[in-house]
Amino acid sequence: MRPDAKTRLCGIIGNPVEHSLSPAMHNAAFERLGLNFVYLAFRVTDVEGAIRAVRALGLRGLSVTVPHKVAVIPFLDAIDPVARSIGAVNTVVNDGGRLTGYNTDWTGFVRSLEAHVPPAGRRVALLGAGGAARAIAFGLRERGASPTILNRAEEIAMARDLAAEIGCPFGDLARTDVIAAADIVVNATSVGMAPLQDLVPADPAVLRPEQVVVDVVYNPLETRFLREAKARGCRTVPGCEMLLLQGATQFELWTGQPAPVDLMRTVLMERLAANR
Ligand code: NAD
Repeated sequence: MRPDAKTRLCGIIGNPVEHSLSPAMHNAAFERLGLNFVYLAFRVTDVEGAIRAVRALGLRGLSVTVPHKVAVIPFLDAIDPVARSIGAVNTVVNDGGRLTGYNTDWTGFVRSLEAHVPPAGRRVALLGAGGAARAIAFGLRERGASPTILNRAEEIAMARDLAAEIGCPFGDLARTDVIAAADIVVNATSVGMAPLQDLVPADPAVLRPEQVVVDVVYNPLETRFLREAKARGCRTVPGCEMLLLQGATQFELWTGQPAPVDLMRTVLMERLAANR
């Protein structure tokens, strides 16, 4: 479909954005559903100006990525309560000039997990306490899971602070007893991501076949931690599923239609494989 006078525009703001996979994923989905939408990438340093442009030009929505997920908040009209708790917005929806901020990182994570196990009542060892772990911790709380947040010793204060907000225990990454006792183990550290692709965030020897092991890292597509978990009989969920499903949730917020998830997965996997 060619853009015309009725085309609705969405986009991503961030810096840098040139490597974003979102335009390919969203444009393919718009085309599949025959929706007159276009999605572009905007390298932005002036967040306030970008949000003013959304209002002035009537963009339907935005994805917001690093480093603007926190800075964008004061310029919006409303913030979804969970996004407010997380303190980060990665999605903006423009309803007739009223701009609402959402966080679909937590929904993307929860959707990827729920495809394998319902999180309610499960013990979760959440490895990491940075931005991704924060969204996941609030998502786990939303779904009634019981996380314990583990972070490396030199950054234990991050785990303590996040745990205090969630109302859950925390500890050192070396707490293999917590990992061994969990129903679900989530790596939300950057360990396993290139150039740390040969490392694991915790000793995989303590994993059990009954566990579901999730990794947020999507480069490489399968981390060493997931490979080791699979070899021990665990069900594994790669980080590209969270990435995919946070995008699918954005698509649904902007269009009001169910996202063509399988198509979006195919596009994402092609691009991720090509980037290797
Ligand atoms: P961050 O910098 O905010 O946090 C990094 C975390 O990793 C911290 O807990 C830090 O203590 C820990 N860490 C870093 N180096 C470590 C090491 N050598 N040993 C042990 N722990 C270490 O980063 P973030 O934004 O939370 O991103 C973390 C990872 O999640 C990245 O790989 C990122 O690409 C990925 N991510 C994936 C998605 C997705 O949709 N799948 C979304 C967001 C982030």
